[in-house]
Amino acid sequence: MPKVLFVASEAHPLIKTGGLGDVVGGLPVALAALGADARLLLPAYHDAVAHAGKLKTVAKFQVTGSADQVQLLEGRLPGTRLVTWLIDFPAAYGRPGNPYLDSRGRLWPDNAWRFALLARVAALLALGRTPLKWRPDVVHCHDWQTGLVPALLAQEQQRPATVFTIHNLAYQGLFPHETFVSLGLPPALWSIEGLEFHGQMSFIKGGLAFADRLITVSPTYAREIQTAEFGGGLDGLLRHRADRLTGILNGIDTEVWNPARDPFLAKQYSARRTQGKIHNKRALQQEYHLPVAPKTALIGMVGRLVEQKGIDLVLETLPALMRRPVQLVVLGSGEARFEEALRAHMARYPKRLSVRIGYDEGLAHRIEAGADMFLMPSRFEPCGLNQLYSLRYGTIPIVRRVGGLADTVVDASEENIKNGKATGVVFEEARAGALLAAIGRALALRRNSRRWNQMMRTGMRQDFTWLHSATEYLQLYRQIMRGNRTPPGKRHVSRKKGK
Ligand code: ADP
Repeated sequence: MPKVLFVASEAHPLIKTGGLGDVVGGLPVALAALGADARLLLPAYHDAVAHAGKLKTVAKFQVTGSADQVQLLEGRLPGTRLVTWLIDFPAAYGRPGNPYLDSRGRLWPDNAWRFALLARVAALLALGRTPLKWRPDVVHCHDWQTGLVPALLAQEQQRPATVFTIHNLAYQGLFPHETFVSLGLPPALWSIEGLEFHGQMSFIKGGLAFADRLITVSPTYAREIQTAEFGGGLDGLLRHRADRLTGILNGIDTEVWNPARDPFLAKQYSARRTQGKIHNKRALQQEYHLPVAPKTALIGMVGRLVEQKGIDLVLETLPALMRRPVQLVVLGSGEARFEEALRAHMARYPKRLSVRIGYDEGLAHRIEAGADMFLMPSRFEPCGLNQLYSLRYGTIPIVRRVGGLADTVVDASEENIKNGKATGVVFEEARAGALLAAIGRALALRRNSRRWNQMMRTGMRQDFTWLHSATEYLQLYRQIMRGNRTPPGKRHVSRKKGK
């Protein structure tokens, strides 16, 4: 069984800002359940240490670029047996709150240095150059914060295999050339075949150019990012590496997201007994100070308030939507302009729209349980987890046909309804009119309660456990351990001439 080191910048329940945290908290646990020796390496953020339970120092060592020693703290990911190492270096990680942003929502100015340190520790561990005895066969990295790990390891003759999972290509970790110099990275990495991206340093390119395998969190996203529309300027490189690039759909934690056992809910329920949903709807309307109206369609939305999630489309739709017989509850935080616009609309439609700005795990569960429909009109969506939670909670997702949404929600076309396959409402274009029409379609479907209940139950019976993804990842690890690696020197020039 392979020994796999997971390197990441967040993991639920230690610290989480989005889907990445859910995946890193779930996938290695599922791999361990299949027999793999998976372990996790994360920065010892102030808040992660606070949630970690018992920790002991297992190694102290020097890392290039830092005067002080780094300590590795060992514990178990809470609620699991997964060995977790936290990199204790207070100057980099000892700050409370969000791992990437300060309390005013600005990126920490030393993020490049902080995540270069994470990469350097990961590389030392992977190469057996720390006092720890354990050495991985595969180093599995996630998103730009870990992009330097495959780049550093590629400089070595003897190294473990590397896998890089792209959770969101839109966040690339771009920094000026001076930052590259100040980090003291191998000068050979400064080239358009390496980390250089239009004169800047790109962390994510370290993963994309150097990892032995590239994975996206859904098959559709793997295809999309090879196009100019979704490729963020990296589609050329991704097309060049297409033979190393595949999609493996994320799973979800079906213990945490289980309507039959969810402690956050007013009433538990299951696919066989969906009546409990009514109580959750009433409780949610009360919690959001909306009129308790069992017949009115209650639409939920949870997520980051950024353009990616199509919140601008929802805002554009609001005046027309608020004339329909619906209520809308929103939970999220993000860009100030969207937060303000939502608050302003809430004042205008107090009986129809209610908004909570912030991050609230329990409320996210109650929305998934209490709403009739869940809105995800994303412009792009690498996988998306909320629609999977919605399916599991019998809440009909209304989604755009993009990325992981396209891979997981089956549209309520006549044919799919007839075959008993429909699970949601899927629309094509990122336009307010298309979104409004999709909501209209959902409202019409809901009038036929037999069809609606059938759709709910079909969704609730879908299997999105981590077992499937973990089995696919395990096959992949085995393949690359057999030596099917990226040969050094065979790399791609990602920049178009003249740019
Ligand atoms: P992304 O990773 O792009 O933000 P995903 O749908 O993949 O989107 O995952 C988002 C995760 O974060 C889900 O588990 C969702 O419930 C959670 N989440 C997002 N915003 C909030 C919030 N404001 N309060 C509670 N949970 C949230």
